[in-house]
Amino acid sequence: MNMAKQPERSRRLVLVPCPFQGHITPMLQLGTVLYSKGFSITVVHTIYNSPNPKNHPDIIFVPIADGLSDQDIRSWDLVGNVAAINENCKDIFQRFLQKLSPVEQEQVCIICDEIMFFAEAVADHLKLPSLILRTTSAATCLARSALVKLNEQGHDLSQGSVSRDLVPELHPLRFKDLPFSLAASFGKFAKVVNKGYGKRTSSAIIWNTMKCLEELTLEQMQQRSEVPIFPIGPLHMIVPFNISSSLITEDRTCISWLDKQPHKSVIYVSSSGSIAALTEKEVAEIAWGLANSNQPFLWVVRPGSIRGSDWIELLPKGFQDSVGDKGFIVRWAPQREVLAHPAVGGFWSHCGWNSTLESIGEGVPMICKPCFGDQRVNARYASYVWKIGLELEELERGEIERAVRRLILENEGNDMRERVKELKKKFQDRIRQGNSSYDSLNELVNFIVSL
Ligand code: UDP
Repeated sequence: MNMAKQPERSRRLVLVPCPFQGHITPMLQLGTVLYSKGFSITVVHTIYNSPNPKNHPDIIFVPIADGLSDQDIRSWDLVGNVAAINENCKDIFQRFLQKLSPVEQEQVCIICDEIMFFAEAVADHLKLPSLILRTTSAATCLARSALVKLNEQGHDLSQGSVSRDLVPELHPLRFKDLPFSLAASFGKFAKVVNKGYGKRTSSAIIWNTMKCLEELTLEQMQQRSEVPIFPIGPLHMIVPFNISSSLITEDRTCISWLDKQPHKSVIYVSSSGSIAALTEKEVAEIAWGLANSNQPFLWVVRPGSIRGSDWIELLPKGFQDSVGDKGFIVRWAPQREVLAHPAVGGFWSHCGWNSTLESIGEGVPMICKPCFGDQRVNARYASYVWKIGLELEELERGEIERAVRRLILENEGNDMRERVKELKKKFQDRIRQGNSSYDSLNELVNFIVSL
């Protein structure tokens, strides 16, 4: 590995992302931003879900063996796999840092994803400075801690709750909005939460969020935190140029299809993001709901996101013929470009945090249908607090048809569009000189230099 590259640069930042799309993207965006501020950037990553170095010529990439078997990867036991990575990568990462020359070691600062605990532990052991990157909303962080406490108090939340009652002291979240991870037992989940939000050894927290969305929650988090918090988001708008960090090849043919659609007429559907999966029955409801809405739609069906099939083999018979050119299906879209396209009038999202920020950043209102975890919190904030999205209660064709038409064609959707455009303006203001995210970024740079 070539650590001698970019000799004129000041500190070398060693970034350790968690190997899922929603975590890799903001970490690489952070690396690009900090490169533009004069730091050298090395990304140490697992072999599983390796980023593509060709898309990031300014960054040095160092793959490390993660010990995950094909079976582990196929199991989709996210919490179990994260635990295995933390276990398996620690020694290799330590050896990597120990091989650096003393001068290089003096310059190094680690920035790790909040759940890549091994990197923080190694930094602490070697007495190297480290920072944490949080890639979810601040509200999610509060809600995860509350969820564990509620469970300790005897609420049975192990299967996730469907109750619409408000959670005490967690306004506006209802029990059904709590970020339970369906892929893990509650015990495993609670262990990660307690470790993640308990005492850490890093010197600061970098957060891909911003005051204009989460001012009060961020204040609460800062009061609880012993180290400074730098809310520098939205990272995707701070990166000096558009970088793609997609793990799946983006199908750009959808852009020429979008070019032929009327202004603000298309519903862009990415209902599973990079991890979630739906059943054949749920997908049939989505398909017929979209078809019956009679609006043009661009639908991302990620390979493997329909349970039991490789791609779209299980779409209902007759569906594609019945929609013809009105519908366009891709495996993976250039999402930011799609959201910025003038033909797109709405975004049906699972409400992953990156997707939520990207939708706001392009002023696109949403249909919010979370699958699990933090998506539920984000969906509640989008629909109830920021009022920029419709909450879809059931995956049922009639409800879907109505939701699409309400969002794209009716006043209700227009009002949401106006509100999300206001938020977009706030995003644009916040990243300009003299405003909060801009200042936080400069404070972060000074902080790293001072370590
Ligand atoms: N994404 C994309 N093309 C797609 C679907 C998703 O580029 O067809 C990107 C999207 O822009 C976002 C990321 O994948 O940056 C998904 O992250 P998010 O936090 O929204 O959800 P997750 O996949 O982690 O659940």
